Amino acid sequence: MDLTTPVSKAGRAYALFATRAEKLGINILEDLLFHFPHRYDDFSVSAPISRVQIGNTATIRGVIQESKTEYTKKNFKIQKVTIEDNSGTIQCIWFNQPYIPQVLKKSDTVSIVGRVDFFGNKKVVMVKDYEKLLSLDARGFHTQGYVPVYPETRGLTSKWIRNRVKELLDSHKFTEYLPEEILKKYAFLSFDQALRLIHFPPSLQDAEKARKRLSFDELFLTQLQATQRRAEWQQKISTHPFEITKHQKKVDSFIASLPFQLTTSQQKAVQEIVSDISKTQPMNRLLEGDVGSGKTIVATIIIYVAYLNGFESALMAPTQILAEQHHKTISSLLTPLGISVGFVSGGKKPNTKHPQQSFDVMIGTHAILNEKLVFNKLGLVVIDEQQRFGVEQRAMLRNKGTAPHFLTMTATPIPRTVFLTMYGDLDVSFLTDMPHGRKKVKTWVVPEVKRDSAYAWIEQQLSKSKNRDQAFIVCPFIEESENATTVKAALKEYERLSKDVFPHLKLGLLHGKMKAKEKDDVLQEFKNGEINILVSTPVVEVGIDIPNATIMLIEAADRFGLAQLHQLRGRVGRNDRQAYCLLFSDSESFPSIKRLKNLESIYNGAELAEIDMKLRGPGDLYGVMQHGVPKLKIASFSDFDLIDKSKQEAQSIFPNLSKYPNLLDKLSSQITLNISPD
Ligand code: ADP
Ligand code: MG
Repeated sequence: MDLTTPVSKAGRAYALFATRAEKLGINILEDLLFHFPHRYDDFSVSAPISRVQIGNTATIRGVIQESKTEYTKKNFKIQKVTIEDNSGTIQCIWFNQPYIPQVLKKSDTVSIVGRVDFFGNKKVVMVKDYEKLLSLDARGFHTQGYVPVYPETRGLTSKWIRNRVKELLDSHKFTEYLPEEILKKYAFLSFDQALRLIHFPPSLQDAEKARKRLSFDELFLTQLQATQRRAEWQQKISTHPFEITKHQKKVDSFIASLPFQLTTSQQKAVQEIVSDISKTQPMNRLLEGDVGSGKTIVATIIIYVAYLNGFESALMAPTQILAEQHHKTISSLLTPLGISVGFVSGGKKPNTKHPQQSFDVMIGTHAILNEKLVFNKLGLVVIDEQQRFGVEQRAMLRNKGTAPHFLTMTATPIPRTVFLTMYGDLDVSFLTDMPHGRKKVKTWVVPEVKRDSAYAWIEQQLSKSKNRDQAFIVCPFIEESENATTVKAALKEYERLSKDVFPHLKLGLLHGKMKAKEKDDVLQEFKNGEINILVSTPVVEVGIDIPNATIMLIEAADRFGLAQLHQLRGRVGRNDRQAYCLLFSDSESFPSIKRLKNLESIYNGAELAEIDMKLRGPGDLYGVMQHGVPKLKIASFSDFDLIDKSKQEAQSIFPNLSKYPNLLDKLSSQITLNISPD
C-alpha cells in the first residue's frame, strides 16, 4: 500500500483507529514510520522454561497445553495458560483478561514475556506481553529483544503501533536520498536501515546509530527548506526600496518627540529594519521581545518611514482587542503628523462601496486579508503575535499581488538556537532590554531557612503599604495538568497560610477546577483589593491585570522552566512601584539553585529559555512557546553539534540541489514544517 494513504482509508486493521492516530499526529501511513519510539523495553533475556529465575523478567516460548479462566473467592478472574518447551512447563498468569483463553488456545505456539514470581507456592510468569508465533523458531517482536515503546494515546497502544510499523517495514523499501558524500563523511546508516533499526534495534547501540542518522535528516531537511525559502524570497524584487537619508531628519524628530527615549535594543532593531527596507529585496524579519519591551513603537517608526516614502502600511493583530489597542496607540502618534490611520476587523467590514477610500495605514485583524480591501501602494506589512511565520506572508502576497516588506512581532520566547534552526529564512531582531524607567521585578532565590522571615517581610510589606500592595503565592507544580492532587495541595497550602502564617490578612484561592464564575469572582475580589494574597496553582492563567500586585512568591520553583518563571513573575510590577519575586526551591542542590539564580540577573524570556535548554534540554520549551511553533520529532534543539553540522551541509548542498534528484523528491514531499496549513 502506498505510504501516502490516509490511515482512515488503509483497511480494516486501521479504520477503527484513525481518529485516535490523528491525535498523535499520524494521518497517513508514512507518519507511523516517523512516530518514533521514546524508549525500548529490554526483553533480551530469554530462557528455557526450566531455567527461569524468580525475580527476573524473562521471555519464554513454547506450545500451549492448557488455557483457562479461574474465579477466585472474591469473584476475581484469573487467566492461566500452561506452556511447555523441551525443558519443562510453566504457568503464565493474567489478571482479569477474560479474552485470553479465546486468543491463546491449546497447541498454539507462543512467546511470552513477564516477571517470574511465586503465585501461591508455584513458580509462574506474571505476563507483561505475549504474541503468537508461527513456529518455535520464528522471531517475535513484542516479547523479544529491545521492544519499542511509543508515545500512546487512549485506545492506541504501543502494541498496535508496533504491528502496523512491522507490516509497513516488511512491505516497503526506502530509497536513500542523502548525498553519498554526507553518508560517507559521517558514516551514517542508510535511510532504509535507520528506519528499521529505530523501530526494531537488535541492540541499543543500533538504536542510537539510527537516532543519529534520523536526527540529522530532520535538521538537515528543515535547514534546507529554510534555505530554499530564503532563496525564493530573495528572488522577489521589492518595488519599494525605501529612501532613508532623505527623510532622516523627520524620522529623528519623530523619535525625539516621543515621551521617552528608545532603549538600546529598540534603537538597534530600528537600524536593522531600516537597513533591510532600503534594499530591493523585501524584508522578512522577526522582532522578538517580551511583553512590554516596546515592539509597537518600533513598528510605528517603520510605518512612518513607509509613509514618508509614499507607501501604505498594514498592521495585523490576532484579536479584535489587540487590533483596537494598536489602532488607538498608533493613531495617537501618527494622526498629528497628517497620516490617516484606518481600522478593519471582523465586526467592522471595510467599506466596500468606496473601495478607493484612502488611508495611509490600515490596522486590523485578519479582515485585512479581505480581498475587497484595496491597497494602492502597500509597502509594509506588520504582523503582531504570529507564530505560524510564513502563513500570513503568503496569504498577503497572494491577495495583494505585491512584495511588500514584512515585519513580524512576537513575545514568544523562542531561543536563538531554535530560531536559527527552524526559521533560518527569517532575519531576527531581539529586544533584550526593558524600557527605561520600568522597574525590574527584583528577584531572589530564598533558602528554606529564611522562609519565616520571608513571610514576615511579605506581611510587613503588604500591611505597611499605603498603596495596598498585593501578593500572589503560586503553589508547587505537582502534575502536568490540573488534577485532584494539585487542587488538594493548593487547598492545603491555602489553609496553612490563612491559619498559621497570615492570620491577619485576607487570602483567596484560585485553581483550575473551580467553575468559571467562581474564578471570576475571586479574581474580581483580588482586583478590587478585598483580598491581600491570592494563592493559586501554577497552571491557572491569571488573565486579568492586577495593577496592585507587587509580590510574587513561587513554591518549588525548580520544577519550572526559567522562561515559565519569567512569565509568571511578569504578572507583578505592572505599576510604577518596585515589585518582587521570591523563589523557593524543593532542591537545595547547588546546580538547581544556580539555575534559578539566573532569574536574579536576567530579564529576558528568550535568553532564559536558551539557558534552560542548555541545562535541561528542550523539554520546557514547548510549554512557553505554545502551539504553532514546530516541534522536532527526533532531533534535539540541545544537540548543538548536530545542528551546526546539518546547517553547514544544507548550505553547501543547496547550490547544487539539482544534482540530487532523490533529495529533491524528498524535499517536495515533505510537509513544510512552518508553513503547514491551518
Ligand atoms: P510590547 O512589546 O509588549 O508590544 P508595547 O509596545 O505595547 O510592548 O509597549 C509597552 C509600553 O511601554 C507602552 O506603553 C509603550 O508606550 C511603552 N514604551 C515603549 N518603549 C518605551 C521606552 N523606550 N521607554 C519607556 N516606555 C516605553
Ligand atoms: Mg504588543
